[in-house]
Amino acid sequence: MSSAPLLSVIIPVYNEAEGLQALFDRLYPALDQVAQAQGIRYEIVFINDGSKDRSAAMLANQFEKRSDVTRVVLFNSNFGQHMAIMAGFEYANGEYIVTLDADLQNPPEEIGLLVQQLSAGHDYVGTIRSNRKDTWFRRIASIAMNRLREKLTKITMTDQGCMLRGYHRRIIDLVRQCDESNTFIPALAYTFANNPTEIQVKHEERFAGESKYTLYQLIRLNFDLVTGFSVMPLQLFSILGMLLALGSGTLFLLLLIRRFILGSEVEGVFTLFALTFFLIGVMLFGLGLLGEYIGRIYQQVRERPRYVVQAVLEKK
Ligand code: UDP
Ligand code: MG
Repeated sequence: MSSAPLLSVIIPVYNEAEGLQALFDRLYPALDQVAQAQGIRYEIVFINDGSKDRSAAMLANQFEKRSDVTRVVLFNSNFGQHMAIMAGFEYANGEYIVTLDADLQNPPEEIGLLVQQLSAGHDYVGTIRSNRKDTWFRRIASIAMNRLREKLTKITMTDQGCMLRGYHRRIIDLVRQCDESNTFIPALAYTFANNPTEIQVKHEERFAGESKYTLYQLIRLNFDLVTGFSVMPLQLFSILGMLLALGSGTLFLLLLIRRFILGSEVEGVFTLFALTFFLIGVMLFGLGLLGEYIGRIYQQVRERPRYVVQAVLEKK
């Protein structure tokens, strides 16, 4: 690729062999059309996030076919979607950067809309999935997490989970300066935006295969989102701790007074048990919460590389 194209499209790929061909068949024509209509040049950066299936070979094959606009970054193992996108940022040269999932849940035909918004001067284009096609569990969990995030952080995104997003290079340069080992890219980028906007995009069922996120990974991702952007959970917890201390202090006084008036009594033992268990639960939760933050600090101080690139396929 001679001089830098205006648009870079970044696509993380993890075990997507079944759907990749369908993606190529829609993505390239869609981008060729955008390029022609808007008189711009584009590039596509695929990141193979340590796939165990034929994905890497298929990407290499596609690179041979369209090496004029394709770059493939190969990780040596699985580092997660957000790290893959981070690597994509490193290898993307465009002024406008769009991230897209490989599973065709977000139609590549929508990229043109994002480019329009970016050329209109917005430096961050968020998206809202209209008519979202995911399991009801994912949809409800997502609504709840969006609300919680909105309360805890100053980040206002209607639909945080949608990864079809557009960013201006200025934002991406700032994102790249943050070397957090676990992060949530749309939220991080949002904190740097001057002129963000949101648009509606279509959402489809996965073309092939299943979601690459296990329940555990989804929970982890949401923890990163909350603890990575706010310390309010810790503060809320200390407030809760104070309230509980106050409550149990009062209870103690009450029991003490009763002891002197009524003499020793054993009724209410089970109530006390229940109370104790409740308090232990709260304490464990607090410990876990502390652990989350300490874990983040630990990962940060180890300063290990966030991802390891095995090879990059690109036209010299
Ligand atoms: N992905 C990835 N690494 C992972 C998990 C997912 O690169 O460890 C990619 C995946 O190939 C897809 C995108 O991230 O292109 C979104 O994944 P998925 O569709 O499974 O997530 P969901 O749509 O269920 O949130
Ligand atoms: Mg998906």
